[in-house]
Amino acid sequence: MLSKIIKEKPIVELHKFLHESNNIVITCHVSPDGDAIGASLGLYHLLNTLGKNVHIVTPDMPPRSLGFLPDIKEIVIYSKYTDFGNQLLRKAQLIFCLDFNAAKRVDKMADALLAAKGHKVMIDHHLDPEDFCDVTISFPEMSSTCELLFRVICRLGLFNEINKACAECIYTGMMTDTGNFSYNSNHADIYIIISELLKKGIDKDRIYTLAMNTSSEDRLRLLGYAMDQKMKVYPEAEGALITLSLEELKRYNYKKGDTESLVNMPLGIPTVRWSIFMREEEGYIKISARSKGDFAVNTICEQYFGGGGHKNASGGEFYGTLDEAVATFEKIAAEIASNKNDNETKQ
Ligand code: 5GP
Ligand code: MN
Repeated sequence: MLSKIIKEKPIVELHKFLHESNNIVITCHVSPDGDAIGASLGLYHLLNTLGKNVHIVTPDMPPRSLGFLPDIKEIVIYSKYTDFGNQLLRKAQLIFCLDFNAAKRVDKMADALLAAKGHKVMIDHHLDPEDFCDVTISFPEMSSTCELLFRVICRLGLFNEINKACAECIYTGMMTDTGNFSYNSNHADIYIIISELLKKGIDKDRIYTLAMNTSSEDRLRLLGYAMDQKMKVYPEAEGALITLSLEELKRYNYKKGDTESLVNMPLGIPTVRWSIFMREEEGYIKISARSKGDFAVNTICEQYFGGGGHKNASGGEFYGTLDEAVATFEKIAAEIASNKNDNETKQ
């Protein structure tokens, strides 16, 4: 039996909204990952089964690695089809906001989302949810939004409506947000849910291969170059940095998603507790940060890179050159090294 963590009130309200609504839009955060797309498509399949007129509108493109997910081609990409996206948002009686906690996380879609008249329901696991939805189901301790979505579906009494396609999408999000169940994944309930999803007919080994262990030759060479030539370890600060410029990315025919997981690699070194990856984009630097144990990288991303996220996985953006971003990293590393030395002296 799954432990009961969601209160009665949001479930009753959500049940009422679902009953009253036919036109439904599902959305998730910009640069969607496996959890955001898995939750969106999982809910899409469930609502389709219930006979709803449902669309997914994402701020931008899903990663190529998720191309195998059933009906991913049905997603309306707002950056490409802005007018259609606006029309769907205007018409929607109910809007699900999945895997994000603040309107600005849908990027250029934020104004249209906030202006939409339909009831809004947030299902999410990021810290400090903003108050812009009619129902907020937020559990930061949850391993993934997909895990939370499964629990919501069960609480709505809709477990029997989960078909194989829905189960595949939910499993994908649970798997990708925990690094194939290698972090944030000690809760026994996770394995009860996986067992139920397997009974729905999913092939978990195939999903792992397709979502997490499939690469182009260019990608493998880019990762090799990044690790060999571009990773710098800062032993005093117990940190590591990897940077890739636009020119380097172009050299390896970079495609969106190719640098996924790169930021995790330095954490394999036992003495490295935090790792930052900086990828140059047109006009800014995208920051990805990861850490181990009680080292919080979200506060670093909030303070220096206008972002945030989870304690061990966060990100942000830096408006300046790559060299300036590196200088900021080195300032942070020097501060951490100096605080560490102070603490060690005191002990
Ligand atoms: P990734 O490094 O995979 O792009 O992002 C990891 C996590 O960091 C995301 O799930 C999200 O919680 C957070 N994150 C990434 N980029 C941003 C950003 O620009 N702003 C905020 N607030 N959070 C971000
Ligand atoms: Mn997530």
